[in-house]
Amino acid sequence: MQRKIWLSSPHIGEQERSFVEEAFSTNWIAPLGANVDGFESDLARFTGVEYVAALSSGTAAIHLALVLLGVTRDDIVLCQSFTFSGSANPIAYQGAVPVFIDSENETWNMDPAQLERAIKHYIAENKKPKAIIPVHLYGMPAKLDEILALAANYEIPVIEDAAEALGSTYRQQPCGSLGDIGILSFNGNKIITTSAGGALLSRNKEWVAKARFYSTQSRDAAPHYQHSHIGYNYRMSNILAGIGRGQMQVLDERIAQRRANYEFYRNALQDIPGLEFQPEAKESFSNRWLTCLDIDPSRTNGITREDLRLQLEKENIESRPLWKPMHLQPVFADAPAFENGVSAKLFERGLCLPSGSNLTPEDLERVTAIIRATLT
Ligand SMILES: *Cc1c(COP(=O)(O)O)cnc(C)c1O
Repeated sequence: MQRKIWLSSPHIGEQERSFVEEAFSTNWIAPLGANVDGFESDLARFTGVEYVAALSSGTAAIHLALVLLGVTRDDIVLCQSFTFSGSANPIAYQGAVPVFIDSENETWNMDPAQLERAIKHYIAENKKPKAIIPVHLYGMPAKLDEILALAANYEIPVIEDAAEALGSTYRQQPCGSLGDIGILSFNGNKIITTSAGGALLSRNKEWVAKARFYSTQSRDAAPHYQHSHIGYNYRMSNILAGIGRGQMQVLDERIAQRRANYEFYRNALQDIPGLEFQPEAKESFSNRWLTCLDIDPSRTNGITREDLRLQLEKENIESRPLWKPMHLQPVFADAPAFENGVSAKLFERGLCLPSGSNLTPEDLERVTAIIRATLT
């Protein structure tokens, strides 16, 4: 059996080690310390967003964003359906109602037409939505012009889920910097990783100060432990922030490597009928975190996404169906949804290809050879 090729494995080098060793040698293992401050300022510089709170995960960042926006029981939150559950679970933590918005075909992200339908529907019911959560799936920027215009028009804040899109841009603006609050993830499979981690970004200084306060158990200024707000244990540790500082030094390289994977696949496969790559609009630059295919079996002699996935698996190559939309998940069966069929179709036909920044040319050749042999 040939060596395993993973979907997206962590890619760590020497720089990370030196930051972590510094934390050890200064005995600064506790949360907070020079690496947390340093990582936050690296992220602020990279995204152009002045205030950043480094947190324990992207999910924690979304949860605190909802807390900051005052989302509570029975509030309506409009969330992209085609995403990872981490986008939506925090809505349930707050006892609020997730309302799922389907995708459009051009970027695979939140469909502005369905978003507007939902906003009008809930305003007519006198339940104005408290927040909108668009996602830049697989690094591809959503249609932010339309989404932000609707948000501004109806005065609803936007939590921009850029967990997969660090380094992507929309009209030259970094993803994560365009909403009222941006969130990032540094989970093990993301474009850069701290093994586990996330961040909340905003130009609102007070919000970010509050996010830091809530994330460290909401401890009031007093010599004893005093609390006048519910707190969370959501801060990033100084050790993990050290890994993040090292990863920031190679982020541009990682983006170039992920983009090169995509270019390789596209050049090698684009002539095969029935295969489409996730499209990139002219105003967008995707970090191509994962290269994704839409496979139309009516044009591949009936070969389906699942046929291809199993064939790759037989050859010790990990690939994965696209995210299962939240409105089709058992846990959210009762949640309202504004559907157009796009994300359901993409879930049925779509496949994420191995996309790690540490893939070798031989790995990419192996993958494309099997795809070609299976589909032609
Ligand atoms: C990874 C991810 C999250 C959650 O981030 P964690 O750090 O894993 O908690 C949220 N949204 C999307 C779209 C993600 O891919």
